[in-house]
Formats: sequence, structure tokens, C-alpha cells
Amino acid sequence: MHFDDLSEYTYGERPKSCTGALAVGWLALSAPFVMGAISRAVMSRVKVLVENPINLTRGYHACEFCVDHLRNHKVDSRALVRQLRDLGALGNGEILVTGLDGVCYFSPVLVAHYMEVHEYCPPLEYCEAVVSMHLDAAVRPDERR
Ligand SMILES: [Zn+2]
Repeated sequence: MHFDDLSEYTYGERPKSCTGALAVGWLALSAPFVMGAISRAVMSRVKVLVENPINLTRGYHACEFCVDHLRNHKVDSRALVRQLRDLGALGNGEILVTGLDGVCYFSPVLVAHYMEVHEYCPPLEYCEAVVSMHLDAAVRPDERR
């Protein structure tokens, strides 16, 4: 499933409190995406959000870039799933990032994998929302590192 970054999110449930709903990080092999460095604070916070996903689905979505890479290396289908799991390249939910203005950004949990492995750089307003978002103390990352 592919959506352009910052296009309207129309896929799943959204909280009533959202003043807008935008898609971020719905990458596909067929669509180019922005690459670049991401701050450690953004990365660690996105990882925390990914550990607490919303809108879970029954099936898994696989990273198309990893699938393509492994298929090119003639990995058979049973090994493929195992290797995708080892790479963190399977996802079955979304994360919700809320900006200070109430705009809600919806990303697949694979967004962390895309950022870490494929150098995906989300839009600046998304990164700002991630950093400014209130995270429950129980799930807050250790940002002193
Ligand atoms: Zn991948």
C-alpha cells in the first residue's frame, strides 16, 4: 500500500480529536522517496511508538525493498519470511503522531525500518511533531544517550 507523504490519510480509524489526518511513510518500491539523516531523538521516539502500535491488522505487510533485495538473491519463500522478520521488515499496524496543532500523522509501523535501514527521511513537520509529542512516561525513550 502506498500513499504520498502528507497526502490525506483515508485508510483506517482516526481519533475524533484530529484536526486533520495525513499519511507519512507509506513507501513502495515503485515510488521514489526522500532520503537523509534523521536525528537520534526522532529515531528513538519513532521506535517507541512502533512498540505501541494502533490499527492492527491480521495480515503482515512486508517491506517491498527487502523483499525485492532477497528475491534478487534467490532466497526461497520459507527463508524469505524468516529473513524479513529478522530484518524487522514485517509490520501489521500503524503509529499515530500528533502535532501541536492537532494534525494527526498516520504511518505504518514499518516507518522505523524504512528510516533505519533504507534511510527514509520523513517530512520536517512530521519529525517536529514526533519530537514535540507527549509520550507517556512508561513508554518514553531514554533520550540522554
Ligand atoms: Zn526493508
